[in-house]
Amino acid sequence: MHFLTITEKKRLLILPIVAMLACVCFAQDKLASIPPIDKRLRAIDSVSLVRLTEKEFIGNPAASLYPEWNNKYTTNFGVTMPKEYKIDLRGFHAPCESRRVTSSYGYRRSFRRNHYGTDIKVYVGDTIRSAFSGKVRIVAYNPRGYGQYIVIRHYNGLETVYGHLSKQLVVENQEVKAGEVIGLGGNTGRSTGSHLHFETRFLGVFIDPEDMFDFTAQDILGEFYMYSSVGRGRLITVEESNKLPSNEILASQGGPTFKADKEAESKRFQAERREAMRQSVYKVKSGDTLSTIAKKRGTTVAKLCKLNNITTKTVLRIGQVLRCS
Ligand SMILES: [Zn+2]
Repeated sequence: MHFLTITEKKRLLILPIVAMLACVCFAQDKLASIPPIDKRLRAIDSVSLVRLTEKEFIGNPAASLYPEWNNKYTTNFGVTMPKEYKIDLRGFHAPCESRRVTSSYGYRRSFRRNHYGTDIKVYVGDTIRSAFSGKVRIVAYNPRGYGQYIVIRHYNGLETVYGHLSKQLVVENQEVKAGEVIGLGGNTGRSTGSHLHFETRFLGVFIDPEDMFDFTAQDILGEFYMYSSVGRGRLITVEESNKLPSNEILASQGGPTFKADKEAESKRFQAERREAMRQSVYKVKSGDTLSTIAKKRGTTVAKLCKLNNITTKTVLRIGQVLRCS
């Protein structure tokens, strides 16, 4: 029988330690190369992390809030807004590496209209990532607005919109994790200079992203954002959240000012429908060809031909109205 000498024993002990250290160093290297993630997530204990992960992979994000899952653009889901709702912001990941906000949410005097998101400076080709885990609801093109854009529904009830992309790297109904690459920054649609238009919505209602996130610090401003349909939303801590009723109870309580909200929503909805109608047809102007029209309406020549029962050789008349969708 061979007994291990002291040096052999030491060697056996040292080997795993060296291996472990190497792993730790490697893991830290890997961590350092990942763009900053919400720093507060690390404070969550492992039990709630498991619970969060389990909850996150059911497949239909925020199914109890939204009436259905579809791939249509909307800012009105036709539901009664809850009086209050706790939106869990932990797990946030900055949508891009850039920290430079070039235009905030709110009224823009130069455009004489509201700006419903936060613009962050990015260059064409910059990586754009999902802000939370969730499921891609829309991958579309709106030449007069968002350009190439993506809408993701998240498990915390929020929907995020990423506009003016040069490339969309996800497909509709695809599940994504927080920080997963979804597209590349660009300058498509109504945009002057490449940037990311980042929007946050709750049941179709716009929320100023800067009420929840600090894009310069690439972090959340609080652990929870308390949405309110009767007043202004506010940030709350986990402790405060725990003292409040559950979201299920909160969601069952409709807000009394919903009627006023509904009016505004309905106007937005009508404007959306009008815009969709405008986009669904095209009046031929001088100089137009099927391919320029297809480009303007975000479709293909083949689709235009099929929809209008024409061929690529058909001569277009000025003033002729073509169906585009
Ligand atoms: Zn914008």
